[in-house]
Amino acid sequence: MTQLFSVPATGRRAYPPRVSAFTQPFWEGLARGRWETTCCEACGRQTFPPRPVCPHCWSDQVRWSPLSPRGTLYSWTRVHAAPAVFAPEAPYGLGIVDLDSGIRLACRLLDAPGVRWRPGMAVEMAVLQYEDGPLFAARAVAS
Ligand SMILES: [Zn+2]
Repeated sequence: MTQLFSVPATGRRAYPPRVSAFTQPFWEGLARGRWETTCCEACGRQTFPPRPVCPHCWSDQVRWSPLSPRGTLYSWTRVHAAPAVFAPEAPYGLGIVDLDSGIRLACRLLDAPGVRWRPGMAVEMAVLQYEDGPLFAARAVAS
């Protein structure tokens, strides 16, 4: 399985995810660079975020399966006037990413020198390693 690129991040996550017994394997895996979600045994479709019941056919027969680490930036914005809890990290980029496997998700964008975000560009998922746990983000793929 592909291991996501990992980036150290300063401090604690400003708005940490609520981790349930069901999503704990996702967050523990993400901390180790593992990128996966639930896949329905009945209809074969992946869902993101991970869910115990398939939203397409309502089956509760789901298993963990690898997510595509690569995708395309569908849209993005740069947040300057951030909600109070995120203000120390502003300005920051937020993107909507279409993974190659068809999952669409929103996440933080990792800025880098020379990277100009634009819709349609190739991105890959990465892990921001905060002191209290991981968050997923996208970074530009070198072209
Ligand atoms: Zn299903």
